[in-house]
Amino acid sequence: MTGDFAIETYGLEKIYRSRWSAREIRAVSSVSLRVPAGVKYGLLGANGAGKTTFVKLLLTAVHPTQGEAKLFGRDAREPEARRPVGYLPENHRFPTYLTGYGMLDFYGALSGVEARERKRRIPEFLELVGLKDWAEVRIKKYSKGMLQRLGLAQALLHRPKLLILDEPTDGVDPVGRREIRRVLDGLKEQGVTVFINSHLLSEVESFCEYVAILRSGRVAVEGKISNLLAGRGYRVTASDVPAAALADIRQSGASILPADEGVTIQVTTREEANVVIDKIRAAGGEIESVAASTSSLEDLFMKTAHPDKAA
Ligand code: ATP
Repeated sequence: MTGDFAIETYGLEKIYRSRWSAREIRAVSSVSLRVPAGVKYGLLGANGAGKTTFVKLLLTAVHPTQGEAKLFGRDAREPEARRPVGYLPENHRFPTYLTGYGMLDFYGALSGVEARERKRRIPEFLELVGLKDWAEVRIKKYSKGMLQRLGLAQALLHRPKLLILDEPTDGVDPVGRREIRRVLDGLKEQGVTVFINSHLLSEVESFCEYVAILRSGRVAVEGKISNLLAGRGYRVTASDVPAAALADIRQSGASILPADEGVTIQVTTREEANVVIDKIRAAGGEIESVAASTSSLEDLFMKTAHPDKAA
């Protein structure tokens, strides 16, 4: 059922066109993703891979050139579809003359939280993010880590079902990161879906259950991290594999990554490796190598986001 997904996109595409030149930038290209409700999902990619544009498309801050996005089964263009979403943008600029309390009061009102409810919730959320003693201090005095935690309280104040965070710990020191992590961990019990854009691999690896890696606007790899990084496994690298055979192999649950010579197919067991090899041969493909593997998200990221720099 479509409502089981917090986010669904179908062939989402964004081309930025300049008014002054013929240059086009394809920031997001044919992205079809499904984020199950209640999970923690990380979107990784190098600078400029299209992560922020993807989030802006979900929130309709920019309009797609093609494709569609749904939030909890509803067309993202409907304001009601976006109501259960909390958002912490990258490089936000909250008005610095406001106090922490004033900022939450202002944005809480914009999110439709009634005055009486704000009065009750704001101290609760300031406490949650460890800023209780800073409530009456103007936010121009806040450190980067404190601003991010205040931003998190802002994104949570209307009790969203989906929290979208764009580089939440960028520029935050390790203590501040741990604080943010503590708040996010607490959301799991409440069933909140958390979608994080990040280029911090360790953060995504330790926090998220699912990951998608964007490369030049396209999804290069997507899936459950535990499957993608199955501790021990086998990598079959092959060339000249017809697309139909790759689709068949992907259907059987194997992960497929781009490789210099063609593709690398990651499977968990020796039997699966043998089946993959048989399928490739039967389809006329060439086996380049077969290797036992252990991998980290960093390996996966380098291979998919920066194949030219991978070892
Ligand atoms: P970063 O990690 O640096 O934030 P990102 O993965 O979030 O990068 P985007 O900010 O979505 O990537 O940018 C994707 C591409 O689209 C880049 O080439 C960027 O220069 C371009 N781009 C983004 N916004 C605009 C815009 N408003 N007009 C034109 N091009 C844009």
